[in-house]
Amino acid sequence: MDNSELFKMATDAKKYSYSPYSGFKVGAALLTDSGKVYTGTNVENASFGATNCAERTAVFKAVSEGERKIVSIAISGESDSLVFPCGICRQVLVEFGDENTKVICGNRKGDIKVFSLKELLPNAFTEFEGM
Ligand SMILES: [Zn+2]
Repeated sequence: MDNSELFKMATDAKKYSYSPYSGFKVGAALLTDSGKVYTGTNVENASFGATNCAERTAVFKAVSEGERKIVSIAISGESDSLVFPCGICRQVLVEFGDENTKVICGNRKGDIKVFSLKELLPNAFTEFEGM
């Protein structure tokens, strides 16, 4: 599974986006260390705060089926510029990724650029140290 193939799967997943409020469809596809791919879309809500991003949808699908390690994740949006994961999604990715996890960001033209998770969220919070 190369970066372009994963990005294509993220782009294909966009068709299931539920985004009646923003009209901005996002698809994500992630590869786990078991070799399986999980896709996700943004799922919006009339109460905007209840909206879930495509990346987290894909992560939660994978984790809820027993996966624990993300090798790479591709994100496909509908803008001319690259679509990056939001801050909350970056934190969720850190929970199930590591320094080698790749984040493949693309635009609607199909251009992609690959980042490490560490580049996107340096000095991440990773441990609960208790009270
Ligand atoms: Zn997000």
